[in-house]
Amino acid sequence: MAFLYLPFGSWMGKVLEKEAFGLAAKDESGVLSPFSFSRRETAEKDVRFKVLFCGICHTDLCMAKNEWGFTTYPLVPGHEIVGVVTEVGAKVTKFNTGDKVGVGYMSRSCLSCDSCSDGEENYCPKMILTSGGKDYDDTMTRGGYSDHMVCAEDFVIRIPDNLPLDGAAPLLCAGVTVYSPMKYHGLDKPGMHIGVVGLGGLGHVGVKIAKALGNKVTVISTSERKREEAINRLGADAFLVSRDPKQMADAFGTMDGIIDTVSATHPLLPLLGLLKYKGKLVMVGAPTKPLELPVFPLIFGRKMVVGSMIGGIKEMQETVDLAGKHNITADIELISADYVNTAMERLAKGDVKYRFVIDVANTLKPTH
Ligand code: NAP
Ligand code: ZN
Repeated sequence: MAFLYLPFGSWMGKVLEKEAFGLAAKDESGVLSPFSFSRRETAEKDVRFKVLFCGICHTDLCMAKNEWGFTTYPLVPGHEIVGVVTEVGAKVTKFNTGDKVGVGYMSRSCLSCDSCSDGEENYCPKMILTSGGKDYDDTMTRGGYSDHMVCAEDFVIRIPDNLPLDGAAPLLCAGVTVYSPMKYHGLDKPGMHIGVVGLGGLGHVGVKIAKALGNKVTVISTSERKREEAINRLGADAFLVSRDPKQMADAFGTMDGIIDTVSATHPLLPLLGLLKYKGKLVMVGAPTKPLELPVFPLIFGRKMVVGSMIGGIKEMQETVDLAGKHNITADIELISADYVNTAMERLAKGDVKYRFVIDVANTLKPTH
């Protein structure tokens, strides 16, 4: 697609839209292929940036395959996006060209409702997803598996200088999604015992963040396979195999909170058993099918099962700042753009340690 100019546009110096290219899923096969589209001009409060890296969240896989039933094709996935600012609008105050920035799964909200006023733009009824969302002008949003992004400055996050950008990208979704509920539910106090269920993209960042907050952290995983790494590399204090009733029984009633990042259907009863009285099980994983909720353990222990979705802008900045302070990044497999379909297949099988990140700037090429 060519540049679209106003009449005499080049003469007037006014670009209405700018050519962009990326990778898109075009049907429920979820297979990604090259895709050209356009992004809006840099409005006065917009930041335009060159995408350097983009993480592959399990959500991208579910959306590409329409597993939740609300995907609009073509879909350009990607909501763990980092890069360098190339242009700022006339009224942008927080960013300059050359700044290292990122955008997560949220690119707009009304900024005036109760949740926006509370700094929880993620729960705004008018929140727009960065990828596969319908924007205020009725166009579909295109995510970070693309050469550049344009985003309102209020939804742009500053990346600390000491963090490598490839490993920092997953903080924009995986990081904030685990940080936000820890903070909101008071699980961020040193000495709290936190369980992290599922040692994938979200889970492994969850372990690192909980440790940085001073928590005792137990990983709850489906097999013994990740025990060694969970403890020796990621810093977890303990490791439980969720399918081993003896291990689970020994840890009965010991945890203040559990962050459940599991992407598939799984039993909640053993997890509820791990909680202390008044403990909280926070669901952040999003299985496609409903889970069975046993009520007796809730009644007897005043326990809570709650959900949480990404985080607000303030929490996103706090997440990356905390990561900067503690040198936390995701453990990544950096891949080239032409490997993305293989990466998706491997992610579906749980074969990644622990997050795929696309080397967008060096490997994503336009098709013409
Ligand atoms: P991921 O890297 O694939 O990790 C998911 C982990 O879940 C796996 O590593 C595995 O851990 C565990 N798991 C997989 N199948 C399982 C099964 N059948 N039973 C028990 N455990 C199983 O995915 P992710 O990117 O971290 O995302 C995790 C989930 O969070 C996805 O559903 C995603 O859509 C959702 N998500 C939600 C939000 C939000 O805002 N709430 C944000 C981002 C992502 P073990 O090998 O250790 O068992
Ligand atoms: Zn995500």
